[in-house]
Amino acid sequence: MLLTFKQAKQNILETATNAKPLTNQTVSLFDALDRIAAIPIISPIDVPGFDNSAMDGYAVRLSDIQQTKTLPLASAIFAGDNISNLQWPEATCLRIMTGAPIPIGADAVVMQEHTEQSDLGIRFLKEIKAGDNIRRCGEDVKKNSITVDTGSKLTLPTLSTLATLGISEVTVFNKLKVAIFSTGNELTPIGTPLSGNGAIYDSNRFTLKLLLTKLNCEIIDLGIIPDDPTQIKQALVTASNQANLVITSGGVSVGDADYTKTALEDLGQINFWKIAMKPGKPFAFGQIGHALFCGLPGNPVSTLVTFYQLVQPLILTLSGLKTTDIDFRFQVKAATDLKKSIGRVDFQRGRLQIDDHGELEVVTTGQQGSHITQSFNQANCFIILEQERGNVNKGELVTIKLFNTLLK
Ligand code: AMP
Ligand code: MG
Repeated sequence: MLLTFKQAKQNILETATNAKPLTNQTVSLFDALDRIAAIPIISPIDVPGFDNSAMDGYAVRLSDIQQTKTLPLASAIFAGDNISNLQWPEATCLRIMTGAPIPIGADAVVMQEHTEQSDLGIRFLKEIKAGDNIRRCGEDVKKNSITVDTGSKLTLPTLSTLATLGISEVTVFNKLKVAIFSTGNELTPIGTPLSGNGAIYDSNRFTLKLLLTKLNCEIIDLGIIPDDPTQIKQALVTASNQANLVITSGGVSVGDADYTKTALEDLGQINFWKIAMKPGKPFAFGQIGHALFCGLPGNPVSTLVTFYQLVQPLILTLSGLKTTDIDFRFQVKAATDLKKSIGRVDFQRGRLQIDDHGELEVVTTGQQGSHITQSFNQANCFIILEQERGNVNKGELVTIKLFNTLLK
């Protein structure tokens, strides 16, 4: 029976959500990029820590300004100055720099560009309102507030905020351990001469390593395993003993050398799915011992598409991520005809671009066969064609989803 893509994804995510959480570790802020917070991060201070000036200008009391528009200059305050002993006579103003503390009694800072120097002091040219150009204490982050929740990804802007709090270490979930191997007698490692007729390079294992590195996983690379049930079984045992997740490529279809299935039968609980998606119909998912297992189809494009669409959300959830991005999909017109057969959801590769009238359109990147790796190279999005849809004519609206950073 064919499973819909939605059913498969739901099943995978449910399994991932119920998996045992990873243990955690403390890392320096610098090493925390894209890791997942394992405990809430509470702000130890207010940011800003004190009221301060947003501009280079002049600090004034509104009561003085109501009397006269020109005030003599009393003194100057610089960023970092201690102003506890500052003397500020009535009916004068203070020179103040960006980031300098606001003295008690100041109602506003007037930006330099709205003033004029005269013999009598500083002349204020524009209307002044209470609070102008003052950054308030705690306006950005309040002391004791939860700045980052458990399960949030520590993105560059988030880490930058944590740096403003003076935080130099964070507790994150340990990296997910992922064991990988490729299956197939035809496979030769990259960087070595092809080993005879019918041999091809093991590109999938290389691709998987890049993908897993980008997803911050710890990789256990078990290499190439020939199409031999005993060796595949042995590799699965080794992999599942060491890893949280085992990913293989090849051997999950219905060919005579697709031994992964046989090898798995007595090792664990695996569902061999035929998912109504293209590319990527054969896909295996289940559990061996304490490890989860994903068997990806061998065709390179199928490997990449199934990884992106199904394994990526699985890994993110297993890694502890709770907040997921909104699934931004939108509709644009197809700039070319698209071939599509009814019965499976297609993840075609396309390029979103701007037409001569300044409107968005999507073009196909050409041949969409599951062995045409070049279809990805010029692409920046998936064109998602619904299961029940047939051929698409140029000008029809189609749903697209831009690639995330995994493919950029
Ligand atoms: P399979 O899923 O084992 O039936 O393989 C499907 C197709 O993908 C075949 O043409 C294989 O030669 C090819 N293939 C399998 N594994 C890999 C790999 N690791 N790298 C590149 N191509 C592969
Ligand atoms: Mg094979």
